[in-house]
Amino acid sequence: MPIRQLPQDLVNRIAAGEVVERPASVVKELVENAIDAGARRITITTSGGGKSLIRILDDGCGMDEADLRLSVVRHATSKLADDGLEDIRTLGFRGEALASIGSVARLSVASRPEGAASGLKITVSGSQPGPIVPEAMNRGTIVEVRDLFADVPARLKFLKSDKAEAGAITDVAKKLAMANPGVQFRLDGPDRMPVDWPARSGPGALAARLADVMGDEFVANAVTLGLMRHGVVVAGLAGLPTFSRANSLLQHYFVNGRAVRDKVLLGAVRAAYADYLFRDRFPAIALFLSVDPGEVDVNVHPAKTELRFRDPGGVRGAVIRAVGEALAAAGHRASGSTSE
Ligand code: ADP
Ligand code: MG
Repeated sequence: MPIRQLPQDLVNRIAAGEVVERPASVVKELVENAIDAGARRITITTSGGGKSLIRILDDGCGMDEADLRLSVVRHATSKLADDGLEDIRTLGFRGEALASIGSVARLSVASRPEGAASGLKITVSGSQPGPIVPEAMNRGTIVEVRDLFADVPARLKFLKSDKAEAGAITDVAKKLAMANPGVQFRLDGPDRMPVDWPARSGPGALAARLADVMGDEFVANAVTLGLMRHGVVVAGLAGLPTFSRANSLLQHYFVNGRAVRDKVLLGAVRAAYADYLFRDRFPAIALFLSVDPGEVDVNVHPAKTELRFRDPGGVRGAVIRAVGEALAAAGHRASGSTSE
C-alpha cells in the first residue's frame, strides 16, 4: 500500500485514544480543568456509566467568548505561559483534552466568567465546532459529553458494563477529592448512589476528607505523616500495621496534587512496612508528596499518572523515613498508654 497522509479527523481520533481511554478518563480531564479553573464546587453527573452522558459543572473562573472558542481547539491551552515544560503547576498543560473529547463524542462547553451578564455555549461534533450561542447559567463552566465513542466501535467494544464504568468514574473522583479537600464534590446520576463530599477546611481538612472517601475506620487506624527533607515534603496518613489489607486498593499516592502510580513510591512504602507486615499484606496509606516542579517530569504519559523523579533515591529515603518515624512514634504512644 502506498503511503498516504491521514485526514485531520482521523488524526484527531487516533490522538484521542491516548487521552480518552474510557469514561473515567474523560471525567478525570474535565474535573482537572475545573480544579485548574479554581472551582470550589464540582458536580459530576453521569448516565450509562458515562457512555451516554458525562456532565461536569463547576463554579470556577469560566471563559469569555474568545477563550471558549479556543478551548476546543487542539494544542490550545492557557496553562503554559512560555514554552518550558519544567515548571508545571497546573494539572493540565497539553491543551488536548477538550479537542480529543470533541473528536470521539458530542461535546458542549458552556461558560460564564466573572462580570459577564450571561453565559455562552459552544457545541462540537465530529471535531467540528458549531456556532457560539447564549446560555443561561451561573458563573463557571458546564461541560457535557454525550454518546462517547458512538462513532468508534473498536473503542466502545472494549468498555466494561455501565456498572463497572460508573465504578471507575467514582475511583477517579475519589482521587481528585482526596487531593483537593477544600473543594466540594458531588456525584450523581441514574447509574449511581449519589455522593456528596463537603468542602473541608482548617487543620483537620485532609483527615476529614480522607475519612469521607476512605472511611472513618482508616483514619481512626492511621498515623499522620509529616516530614520535610532536601526539598521533599511528605504528608498524609499511614495505616497502622494492624489495619493491613490483602490488596493494595487502599493505597493512594499523590505528587504535587496529582494522583500517580509510581514504582519508586510503591517500593518505598513496601520497604517502610517490611518489618511490620508479611509479604502478602498491604498497608492502607494516603501519601502526599510535594517536590519542586523541576524535580519531577510529568510529561511521560498523556494520562499523566506516570512520572519520573530526578532524584528517586532522595524521594525513596524521605518516604521510608516519614512512614518509619510516624509508625515508631505511634508505637511509643501505644506502649506508654498501656502503662497508665
Ligand atoms: P489543558 O487543560 O491541557 O489546557 P484542555 O483541552 O483540557 O487543555 O482545556 C483547554 C483550555 O480550556 C484550558 O487551558 C482552559 O483555559 C480552558 N478550560 C477548560 N476547561 C475549563 C473550565 N472548566 N473552566 C475554565 N476554563 C476551562
Ligand atoms: Mg485539561
